[in-house]
Amino acid sequence: MASKRDYYEVLGLSREASETEIKKAYRRLAREHHPDANPGDTGAEDRFKELTEAYEVLSNTQARQAYDTYGHQVPRGAGGAPGGDPFGGFQDIFETFFGDRFGESGFGSFFGGTGARTPSRGGDAEVEIELALREAASETEREVKVQIVKDCSVCSGAGGTETRQCDTCGGAGAVRTVRQSLLGQMVSTQACPTCSGRGRIIVVECENCRGSGRVAEVVTRRIQLPAGIEDGMSLRVTGGGHAGERGAPAGDLYVRVKVKEDAELMRDGDDLIHRMRVNFVEAALGAETEVPALDGSRAVRIEPGTQPGATLTLRGEGMPRLRRRGRGDLKVVVDVMVPTRLSGEQQELLRRFEEISGEETYNNGGGESFFDRLRSVFR
Ligand SMILES: [Zn+2]
Ligand SMILES: [Zn+2]
Repeated sequence: MASKRDYYEVLGLSREASETEIKKAYRRLAREHHPDANPGDTGAEDRFKELTEAYEVLSNTQARQAYDTYGHQVPRGAGGAPGGDPFGGFQDIFETFFGDRFGESGFGSFFGGTGARTPSRGGDAEVEIELALREAASETEREVKVQIVKDCSVCSGAGGTETRQCDTCGGAGAVRTVRQSLLGQMVSTQACPTCSGRGRIIVVECENCRGSGRVAEVVTRRIQLPAGIEDGMSLRVTGGGHAGERGAPAGDLYVRVKVKEDAELMRDGDDLIHRMRVNFVEAALGAETEVPALDGSRAVRIEPGTQPGATLTLRGEGMPRLRRRGRGDLKVVVDVMVPTRLSGEQQELLRRFEEISGEETYNNGGGESFFDRLRSVFR
């Protein structure tokens, strides 16, 4: 960073300058270098901040004394000089100079102010991305097209290909009115009515934007989606929305994420649930089978005597935990199929089976009930 300029030098004053001289110099220079009076000049904001910082210090008796003694290296807390945030009182100082408040399109926009001061920050844009569950399981990048309002590239947002400084406000974009009242002199400042606060008058209207200074454009943006993103979440791209007016910051882009349901895997937070159908013979005798996973399939073993609603847990086979390490589990819930169409022979075999079976055939050791097992899946 370049070394800081001397505050007196910034304001073009000698070290003996009086309070009035400091005020006058700041007022004159602030109008000249205000960013709104210098559209398209990126250095204006820096010059303006430098001016205001210099004024803030030199207009405060204690801070000025400290600055005269220590220069820019003012120890924290010495003489009430600005410490970590030299712009803490930035807006306030500006207000004391230029009246209570600027209009909506006036200087207020530069500060992106709060409350009654309406900022002209650009609006937010919104777009939706639809993903399959399996796609949401790993980090992905998507391109989206968003229609946003931008400054016209032909006239740089000025609205005209030829403009001149506004005579009414001298290019400042705001006018002050002074009137006498019972309380003394009242000073108020408004957006200049002639140029609507722009500071410039359009001589030749820009054909591209028809004088508005703004155009709608479809832009393509690449969006990074973190692994494990959930349905309904929104990602914010700061500054990805509509352009702000006259140097005010752009709005944000909100990317709404829709994660489609999967036919085989149901999401439950970081866990996945798969309903596995086995027939009653497999459930009784046990079986080796496969279940679908996020990538491919996994072999699972059905133990003899597996009950409906029994759950097999495959650790770490669930969704990646969003912005954390590890993965959830894949829970396989067993659904036992009971035959619905039996031939005479099949019926005969089952009857014979029933005859030689007793209470002990179905004794599962007094374990959990079907509903307990089901409940344990959705913790
Ligand atoms: Zn234009
Ligand atoms: Zn004007």
